[in-house]
Amino acid sequence: MKVFEKIKAMQEFSRSLRMAGKKIAIVPTMGFLHEGHLSLIDTARKNGADAVVVTIFVNPIQFGPNEDFDKYPRDFERDKALLEEKNVDAIFAPTPSEMYPRPITCKVIESELSRGLCGKSRPTHFAGVTTVVTKLFNAVLPDMAVFGQKDAQQAQVLCRMVEDLNFPIEMIISPIVREADGLARSSRNKYLSPEERANALVLSRSLLEGKKMLEEKGEKPGAVISFMKENIEKSSGRVDYVSIVDAKTLEEVSPDEEKSGRELLIALAVYFGSTRLIDNILVSF
Ligand code: AMP
Repeated sequence: MKVFEKIKAMQEFSRSLRMAGKKIAIVPTMGFLHEGHLSLIDTARKNGADAVVVTIFVNPIQFGPNEDFDKYPRDFERDKALLEEKNVDAIFAPTPSEMYPRPITCKVIESELSRGLCGKSRPTHFAGVTTVVTKLFNAVLPDMAVFGQKDAQQAQVLCRMVEDLNFPIEMIISPIVREADGLARSSRNKYLSPEERANALVLSRSLLEGKKMLEEKGEKPGAVISFMKENIEKSSGRVDYVSIVDAKTLEEVSPDEEKSGRELLIALAVYFGSTRLIDNILVSF
C-alpha cells in the first residue's frame, strides 16, 4: 500500500494505474476510520474498481468558525493499519499546506441543494466540500467515487456538481452502516458520553418509526415531523432540524402532502450535549 502526501506523486501513481488498464476508485474521508468508511471500499470493489485510493484529509474550509476542526479526532497510524488490512492500493493524505498553500480564492459552489437541511446552520460547509472534493478528484484522477448515504445531502450535492461540471467520474452512493443498536457510525460518536450515546439511539428509532408512519400508517409528513421532534426532545436531544424532502432534489414536501409513490428522505441533525449528529432514512411515499 502506497502513502502519498504530495499531489504530484499521487497523480503520477494514478496515471501508472490507468496505463496498466486499472479502473480507479476514490473514497474520500476525514480519517478516524470506522466500519462505515471501510464499507465504501467494499462498495467500490463491488462496482468494478480495480484499484482503490482512500483519501484522508480533515478539510479546514468545510468547518465553520465555531465548529470542531481543531478537536476533530485524528489517528493516522490506526487508519493506515485498517486500510492495509483492507488491501487498498494507496492512501492520499495531504497536509493542509499541500492542499491550501495560500488562502483559496477559487471555489466550487453548488447553490441549490446546498441551501436547505444542514446548509441552513452550516452556510459555508458545502462550498468547502465541493471545493475539496474537486481538488481530491484532480489529485487522484479517479474513474469512480464512492460516498456514504450517511451524508445524504453531501452525496446529492456532489452528484449535482459532477453532472453540472461534467466530471468524467461515476458516482456511487453506499448505504448507511450502523452499530448493532442502530446508531449510525460516525467519527463524531467518540465525543458522546455514555449517557448521550444511550440518548442518541432515539435518532435511528424515530427514523424507523417515521418511515413506518409514512409507508404503512397513512400519516402525513407534518404529523411525522412533529412526532419525531417530540420524541427526540424527550431523550434530551436538541433538534437542529427534522425534515422530509424529495430524495433527489432535497425540496421539502408539504406537511399535508398526499402519497404518490415518490422517494423521500427523512433527514435530521440533532445535538446531544455539544455533539451534532446527523442521520436519515429513505422512504417511499
Ligand atoms: P467523513 O470521514 O465523515 O467525512 O466520511 C467520509 C465518507 O464516509 C463520506 O462519504 C461519508 O458519507 C461516509 N460515511 C461516514 N459514516 C458512514 C456510515 N455510517 N455509513 C456509510 N458511510 C459513511
